[in-house]
Amino acid sequence: MPDRFSTLSRNKITARLQSEDYDLLIIGGGITGAGIALDAASRGLKTALVEKKDFAFGTSSRSTKLIHGGLRYLKQLEFGLVKEVGSERAVVHKLAPHLVVPEKMLLPLYERKGLGYWLTSIGLKVYDFLAGVRKDDQRKMLTRMQTLRYEPLLRSDDVKGGAIYAEYRTDDARLTIEILKSAAASEADVINYVKVSDFIYEENRISGVQVTDQFSGEIFPVRSKVVVSAAGPWVDELREINQSRTGKRLHLTKGVHIVVPHRRFPVHQAIYFDVADGRMIFAIPRGRITYIGTTDTNYNGDIDNVTATADDAAYLINAVNATFTGVDLSLQDIESSWAGLRPLIHEDGKSASELSRKDEIFESPTGLISIAGGKLTGYRKMAERVVNLVVKRHFADRLLKTFSTENIPITKNPFTNNREIQQYVTAITEKLKPYPLSGYTPRNLVEAYGRQTDVILAQMGDADYSEAEISLLKAEAWYAVHHEMVATLQDFFVRRTGLIYFEIRKVKQYKHEIALYFQSVLGWDDERMVTELKALEKVIEDVTQFKANT
Ligand code: FAD
Repeated sequence: MPDRFSTLSRNKITARLQSEDYDLLIIGGGITGAGIALDAASRGLKTALVEKKDFAFGTSSRSTKLIHGGLRYLKQLEFGLVKEVGSERAVVHKLAPHLVVPEKMLLPLYERKGLGYWLTSIGLKVYDFLAGVRKDDQRKMLTRMQTLRYEPLLRSDDVKGGAIYAEYRTDDARLTIEILKSAAASEADVINYVKVSDFIYEENRISGVQVTDQFSGEIFPVRSKVVVSAAGPWVDELREINQSRTGKRLHLTKGVHIVVPHRRFPVHQAIYFDVADGRMIFAIPRGRITYIGTTDTNYNGDIDNVTATADDAAYLINAVNATFTGVDLSLQDIESSWAGLRPLIHEDGKSASELSRKDEIFESPTGLISIAGGKLTGYRKMAERVVNLVVKRHFADRLLKTFSTENIPITKNPFTNNREIQQYVTAITEKLKPYPLSGYTPRNLVEAYGRQTDVILAQMGDADYSEAEISLLKAEAWYAVHHEMVATLQDFFVRRTGLIYFEIRKVKQYKHEIALYFQSVLGWDDERMVTELKALEKVIEDVTQFKANT
C-alpha cells in the first residue's frame, strides 16, 4: 500500500476530501500551515490541509534558511519575539538535528557602522539570556585581530572587533515537508495542487471550502467545522473572498538571495555584516556554494511569480565587495537566486525593514481564522496559538490529547545528537566511496534525508561507476514519489532537493532523464512532458536571469 504521503496516494486523498467531515481544514502548505496540521492532528482533531501549488512553494522555500532568534529585532525592542523565536531554535534543532544544523555566526564590528562594540556585547548577552542559550554556546566577543583571524577576507580598514554567536542553518522547504509528513503520519489528509477558490457557508458561518484540483480541473467541496487560512502572502486574497479584508492588512516586502560558488566567495563560516544603508545581510557557506541575502523592499507585483531584479543582485554584490577584500564579485558569478515575500502586518509610516515580524491572528465574522507574519523559526508556537484558539472556540467540550509538539520528532528514526549524525555521515561516505561523487554528497544527503538516506541508497543499488550521479538522483526521485508527494519536475529540483539553488548544473544536465523517470512512474503523456520541461526551463530562467527593475 502506498505511503499516506506518496504521490501515488493522491486519488485516495482527494476521495477522502470529498467524503469526510473534518474538524479543521487548513489552507496553505507553507511552514505555518504544516505546523498547524501537525499540532491539530496530534491532538486528535480530524485535519485536512490543501496547498494550491507545491508544499513550501511560497515564502517557506525562499527564506534565509536560518533557524534564528532575529538579533536585529532587539534593536527594534521586540523582546517578546526574540525570547520566543530564540528559545525555539534549540527545540527545532532537537526535533530534527540533521536538518537544523548549528552554525556559528560571525558579527564584525566597525568604528563608524552598526551598534558598536559595547552595545553589541550587551545586546548579545540579552539575546543569550532571553533565548536561554547554553553556557558553552553563549556569545563570545572578539578583538580586532581575532575577528580578522576568523574571517581573513574582511576588509580590515575599520574593523574594530567582532562577536561569535550561535544560530542554526536549515533547508526551509525540507523542514516544511518533513513536518507535513509527520502530520500525515498523525492521520491528517494533506495534499498539494488543490486550490481553495471559495468558502461554503451555513447560516452565515463557514462550513467548508470549494476547491479545484489543479491537475484534473475537478471542482469539489470539502466540509469542515473550522477553516484556518495559513496562506502567507495570499492571506488577504482569501480574506477578500471571505469579504473580511477590513482593519489590519498585509504589507508585502521582497527579500532576495543570490548564490555564488564558494571558491569565488570562500567565507570561513556564516557572517552577518553591516551594509552602507544601515541594514545587515548574511553570507552563508553551504558546501560548494555561498549564498548571500537579503534585500528588503516594498512589493506590489505578481505574488505568484516573484523574482530577483538586476538592482537586487547589484545591491547584494556591492555589499559583499564593499565588506570583503579580494573577492570582487560580479553578476557573472551568480549561479542562482531566489526571491520571497514577507507577509508582514502593515503599520502606517514604517519602512519595509522597520515593520514588525510578529505574527497576528485575524478572525472574521463568518469564522475564518487567518494567521500571517511571524518567522519560520517560530512555526511551532504560532501553530500552538492557532490550535488553542480553534479548540477554545469550537472543541472546548471535546477530550483531546494534551501532549505538545515539542515532543514529536519531525523525522522518522531521528538522531539524538551531533555525534550520531557525524558517525552516520562517515558510514554513508564509506558506502559511497566506490563512486566518483562530489565530496559534499554524503553530508548533503544526510542533512536532507537523515537516516532515510539508507532507503535512498538501497534504491540506488549497485550503480555503474560512470552512472553514479544520475543513479543517485533517480533514487532520490523514487523517494520523492513514494514518500514526499512530488507532483511536478520543478517540485523535485526546487523543493525536494534544492538543486536549483545549490547545484544548478545537475538540474540542467539531468532534467530530461528525471522527467522520463517521472513519466514512467506517474504516467505522464507527451503533452504533460512538454509542459513539465517548459515549466522547469522558466524556473531556471527566473533564478539565473535578472530582469530590469519593475
Ligand atoms: P508561505 O510559505 O508563503 O505559505 C503559504 C502557502 O499558502 C503557499 O504555499 C501558497 O501557495 C498557499 N496558498 C495560497 N493561497 C492558497 C489557496 N487559495 N489555496 C490553497 N493554498 C494556498 N524566517 C526565519 O525564521 N528564518 C529566516 O532565515 C527567514 N528568512 C527570511 C528571508 C526572506 C527573504 C523572507 C521573505 C522571509 C524570511 N523568514 C525567515 C520568514 C519566513 O520565511 C516566513 O515567515 C514563513 O516562511 C512564512 O510561512 P507561511 O507558511 O506563513 O507562508
